[in-house]
Amino acid sequence: MDAGAVLAELRECGALLEGHFALSSGLHSDRYFQCALVLQHPERAERLARALAARLRERGLVEGVEAVIGPALGAVTWAYEVARALGVRGLFAERQDGALRLRRGFALRPGERVLVVEDVLTTGGSAREVLALVAGLGARPVAVAALVDRSGGDAFAAEGLACVALAEVKVETWRPESCPRCAAGEAAVKPGSRPGAAGVGERAR
Ligand code: ZN
Repeated sequence: MDAGAVLAELRECGALLEGHFALSSGLHSDRYFQCALVLQHPERAERLARALAARLRERGLVEGVEAVIGPALGAVTWAYEVARALGVRGLFAERQDGALRLRRGFALRPGERVLVVEDVLTTGGSAREVLALVAGLGARPVAVAALVDRSGGDAFAAEGLACVALAEVKVETWRPESCPRCAAGEAAVKPGSRPGAAGVGERAR
């Protein structure tokens, strides 16, 4: 499954919107990802997770991996599906008192090899927190894997970890005052802010 096929799959579900968006950061962008909209379809989630697992295997990154972990809520389903594709445990980390932790009796053994996953990597901040959590428990992160990587591909070079994604995508962002779409008089849409937001994807297609 190449990047084009992955993005087509996201577009079909409204998980990749193209247009003019006002993000919660205050910046405007030309694309917006809401991966929950593709992962809500189990057969699509399974297909994507298998494709990611195949890519990880090709790169020799899954040998000895015993668990997959992602940050809640965005990566709960994704971690589960990738774990299923690899035949290992799927865990998630949850934010409690400001920090990502393992709850519900989830545990990692010292030395256990762990794959960290995200649905969309933007700055990699949450994934980095999960890496710290895994390392703090004495387990061994082996790579970071994502459905979509917006970070530029080497977000974890400093940690010496490979970052593997099904699609790498550049998303342009602007401050509203320098946004070309605002300058063209187009109204910006807040993604996910209204039930009919899927209509944006409809229009973008
Ligand atoms: Zn704008």
